[in-house]
Amino acid sequence: MTHTTNDLRAFDRKHIWHPYTSMHNPLPVFPVESAHGVRIRLTDGRELIDGMSSWWAAIHGYNHPVLNRALRDQSEKMAHVMFGGLTHEPAVELASLLVDLTPAGLNRVFFADSGSVSVEVAIKMAFQYWYSMGRTDKTKLLTVRGGYHGDTFEAMSVCDPVTGMHEIFTGILPQHYFAPRPACPYGQPFDPQSLQALETLLTEHHNELAAVILEPIVQGAGGMWFYAPEYLTGVRSLCDRYKVLFIADEIATGFGRTGTMFACEQANVTPDIMCVGKALTGGYMTLAATMATDKVAETISQGKAPTLMHGPTFMANPLACAVACASIRLLLCGPWKKRIGIIRRQLEQELTPCKASPSVADVRVLGAIGVVEMRQPVDMQHLQQIFVDNGVWIRPFGRLIYIMPPYIIAPDDLSTLTATICKVVSQHATR
Ligand SMILES: *Cc1c(COP(=O)(O)O)cnc(C)c1O
Repeated sequence: MTHTTNDLRAFDRKHIWHPYTSMHNPLPVFPVESAHGVRIRLTDGRELIDGMSSWWAAIHGYNHPVLNRALRDQSEKMAHVMFGGLTHEPAVELASLLVDLTPAGLNRVFFADSGSVSVEVAIKMAFQYWYSMGRTDKTKLLTVRGGYHGDTFEAMSVCDPVTGMHEIFTGILPQHYFAPRPACPYGQPFDPQSLQALETLLTEHHNELAAVILEPIVQGAGGMWFYAPEYLTGVRSLCDRYKVLFIADEIATGFGRTGTMFACEQANVTPDIMCVGKALTGGYMTLAATMATDKVAETISQGKAPTLMHGPTFMANPLACAVACASIRLLLCGPWKKRIGIIRRQLEQELTPCKASPSVADVRVLGAIGVVEMRQPVDMQHLQQIFVDNGVWIRPFGRLIYIMPPYIIAPDDLSTLTATICKVVSQHATR
């Protein structure tokens, strides 16, 4: 069955929901035929250089022979078996890689089928940890504004209240505590005062708090904001002092994106619970994991409710685990740190000139992430079309135009991305 580009678009428009869209008069979508390396090929034959890594995931680019082979080999053994009462080599290997790679002490692995679910599991673990200690009063969470942790209800309850649209769900969403967005930008001298509001909330509410949950160093979908590692170090010691668990959501930052394997390393902290996802499978399959310390796992397992009541149907899917193992090995056997350093320097050099434009509020770069923050919200539909017409795939939101390309991107392709951003910023950005 072959469809024309227009057939695909017409059926899609009428019947299919896309992320964060209305079905009434939805924005246009671009049908994709295939993708290879850093290029996405549309059904009309045009090729786009990818600046998004399909939302942080495709770190090795698309259609990678090593990842393809891992998937093919595993599919000839088994695509899936239930994880209740059974185990398999891909899951064991992946758990072993994750235990080795993540900050020391995170030795227990729960496989989840998406990032949001791994956040649900992390929160469930935190509540159950305190329940096991007889602390049935510790049922609240503390986080900061500007965060994003997923779209399921408990995850949504710790997203930024404004961008997470909490007011629609008043009465349904659990109510938690919010400190201001960390006011200490990455790369600038750290002012300990920036921890004050969070500490005040801990002082007042630690008896009811199960955990602090944060995206370490980089707040992603909630505003592409980079804050000082010292803030994270401070949070870790405050959590210890006030006896509150610390959950790090590394779903966006994990696997090298910030220049270290995990962002927590920049602050030299081990969280009690950590979520990974997105780039875990190199963008091939949906898979995430919730990692916990021995103490968290043992406390739950020896408590009044000794089983962790969670078990997705497709838990530890062997195809996903096999491709995740291949992706991690591929990352480890290449010079990922050097590549990210090269991308960072190029982003700094080529995006900084945008600062000269009066419509630009800020330009910031961290690891393989480049952000141009505009003064006004951008016309997303208009910009999206201009980017596609210029042969690049960049999807802005709100006041943010940003890229986090696959690590394999060549310097001239990256220059095409940055040059297009600079051009668009100076010519078209605002309504
Ligand atoms: C994307 C993301 C999630 C949610 O992951 P999904 O796989 O989309 O459910 C959670 N936390 C952070 C930090 C993310 O970037």
